[in-house]
Amino acid sequence: MSYRIVVDRNKCQGIGACLGTAPDVFELDSEGKAVIINPDGSDDDTILAAAEACPLEAITIYDEQGERIFP
Ligand code: SF4
Repeated sequence: MSYRIVVDRNKCQGIGACLGTAPDVFELDSEGKAVIINPDGSDDDTILAAAEACPLEAITIYDEQGERIFP
């Protein structure tokens, strides 16, 4: 995978939409915040879809050049 995934823990409310889309990439930690368990757990399209699924836009995706792709 070529994307870099960043979860904003201040924005994340543990809604879990990202896990529903990419359960091999994201998990909720003991504080109920999404963490990345495996950045290679899904293909890029699925990871992007997981970021788009977050209603709080807590997930930011960067490409391999460091350009922000989402949001
Ligand atoms: S969908 Fe967004 S708010 Fe919900 S757990 Fe994932 S990052 Fe957090």
